[in-house]
Amino acid sequence: MILLDGNAASKKRLESLKKDADAFFDKNKKRPGLAVVRIGDDPASKIYVSKKIKTCKENGFESFEFSRPASTTQAELETLVDELNERKDIHGILVQLPLPKQLSEKAIIERISPAKDVDGFHPLNRGRLLSQEETFVPCTPKGIMSLLSDHKISVEGRSALVIGRSAIVGRPVSLLLDYAGATVTVAHSKTKDLNALLPAADLIVAALGKPHFLSKQILKAGVILVDVGINRLADGKIVGDIDFNAYKNIASAMTPVPGGVGPMTICSLLENTWQSFLRI
Ligand code: NAD
Repeated sequence: MILLDGNAASKKRLESLKKDADAFFDKNKKRPGLAVVRIGDDPASKIYVSKKIKTCKENGFESFEFSRPASTTQAELETLVDELNERKDIHGILVQLPLPKQLSEKAIIERISPAKDVDGFHPLNRGRLLSQEETFVPCTPKGIMSLLSDHKISVEGRSALVIGRSAIVGRPVSLLLDYAGATVTVAHSKTKDLNALLPAADLIVAALGKPHFLSKQILKAGVILVDVGINRLADGKIVGDIDFNAYKNIASAMTPVPGGVGPMTICSLLENTWQSFLRI
């Protein structure tokens, strides 16, 4: 079984990105800059943001953290986004979700300049993805495709099953798999008989957010398993949507959790920021 090791794959990609960033700086005295906006005190958001800032620092990227209280108003946040849109030293803007209830995520995402929308959540960038035009590909789906290609796994002609159809993971990854030549089925909470779909899949992307949801079901021998889930159990342990031990002797390739898709997501964020830096 090939372990789809996201720590190793992202390390390699980030090393190459750092080389490029340092070489660019030596020549032009400019570095790519990522702004990360965090509103309120959500503990998971704090961890995600600090990881992103740390990864920037370690890899020759500038990072700017903007932490604001949970009481921040829509107008205040929009003013901040407007300022970041204008700043020449900022090439990527990320507003960490979820936002406190009084704030409209939709309005904030739409306020971010599409040219700096390194999360790929702006409707214009989503539309570009749908039209197969150059765009910022959302980080987790992009990271999944990078992880597969870094392990020389081609999805062309394979039967892929994506479980989950969220706008940030399931739906975009289903498009990317389709573009890469897979025959894609998308399952979701209204799917009637998921167990009937599972054994036919050559590749399964589990992105539903249910701890060890796949553990006893019958899967095809040699299946490729990509686990997007990050589920925190009562004892603080993080587990994926797939029980690794239950399938490690059945799968031909599989991501661990943690250390699979997660690090690839952050790596893609820096790759998108680099793409923006070269464009602006
Ligand atoms: P979401 O809650 O927005 O979407 C979940 C999807 O799963 C929905 O489309 C729903 O229809 C589907 N679903 C729910 N129950 C189902 C069932 N019984 N059968 C089939 N489908 C079902 O979640 P999301 O934002 O897409 O995130 C999914 C998981 O991935 C979460 O655990 C999240 O923490 C994790 N995540 C990880 C990363 C990463 O970098 N590794 C990034 C984003 C999200």
